[in-house]
Amino acid sequence: MTTLHSLRSKVLEIKEETTMNWAPRVKPIKIRRLYRYTRLGIYDDLLLHDVGWELYARCTDIATVADVYREGRVPCPECSTKIARRIDPLFSTGEGGTHENWFYCPHCAKRLLWRDCRQALRDTPRCFDCRSVLQKADDLECVCGKTWSPAAYKQSMRTRVRLPCPHCLNLIRKPDPPPRGRTVRTRKSRSELQCPKCQAVALHQHGNIECTACGYKRRWRDYRKSLKKKDEKLECPNCRYTFGWQAWRQSARSLRTGNPRPARDFIKRWLRCHTPQQRMIQIDTLLQTLHGRGPLAPLFIDSGEHNIRQMLDDLAS
Ligand SMILES: [Zn+2]
Ligand SMILES: [Zn+2]
Ligand SMILES: [Zn+2]
Ligand SMILES: [Zn+2]
Repeated sequence: MTTLHSLRSKVLEIKEETTMNWAPRVKPIKIRRLYRYTRLGIYDDLLLHDVGWELYARCTDIATVADVYREGRVPCPECSTKIARRIDPLFSTGEGGTHENWFYCPHCAKRLLWRDCRQALRDTPRCFDCRSVLQKADDLECVCGKTWSPAAYKQSMRTRVRLPCPHCLNLIRKPDPPPRGRTVRTRKSRSELQCPKCQAVALHQHGNIECTACGYKRRWRDYRKSLKKKDEKLECPNCRYTFGWQAWRQSARSLRTGNPRPARDFIKRWLRCHTPQQRMIQIDTLLQTLHGRGPLAPLFIDSGEHNIRQMLDDLAS
């Protein structure tokens, strides 16, 4: 029963990934072969290209998905035209929003959203005190002796106003929300509010959504919640292809990370490689980075989380 279910979800996953044309993950067997040859001093350039370009395609997809959550614009699966989401800006602030909520880490100057800090901890739970990576048993345990139940950790992550920077790990303070006037103006120009009943222009005022045309009125918070549950139809203005946000989001699930930096770095550097040795260095650099951040690896490599860890351990030794 369980096997059948997991098989089904596997098939669904494959189907969704192909509908949206995401690049497949790289087969571990190829990576192992690459390292075996390299240890013998052999640089098989055909294999290097093979693995490198597969990683490159995967990195590009990871960066694309990260951009969608940053900008609220979804690439059309048919022609890649970016389609602006209508409802994202309305509820994004709670999770630490879009570009009006950008801030810079005071330690390493990287641009951040607060939700990046949270997402990084979801990917790799760290101790709030000493920032070591936590060991996952039943509870989350730190070498310094602190433990959290998964629920308590989640709760704490949501409510803390100081979290580690995903890049430099220094503690940073949750930024104040941007000034109200500015926020409202940017939002209006980017996406007009629509009355859900009569589709006329509606207003966000007095903590409500209010329509002057038909008199519709609802508490803003309830309205936002209902939007979150509702699927959004997206239509490409270029090729007229239509698809649902939820289906897209599902298909991109295995590509989502709060730390797209290693993928972005690889994209830049891979294109500058001219020799087999340089190609091997870049592939190795990426895999070493993944080694340090366990949960990132399954985004790139096609295998169970445990097997990947084992493989990366083997390669590093
Ligand atoms: Zn930083
Ligand atoms: Zn600790
Ligand atoms: Zn109305
Ligand atoms: Zn299109």
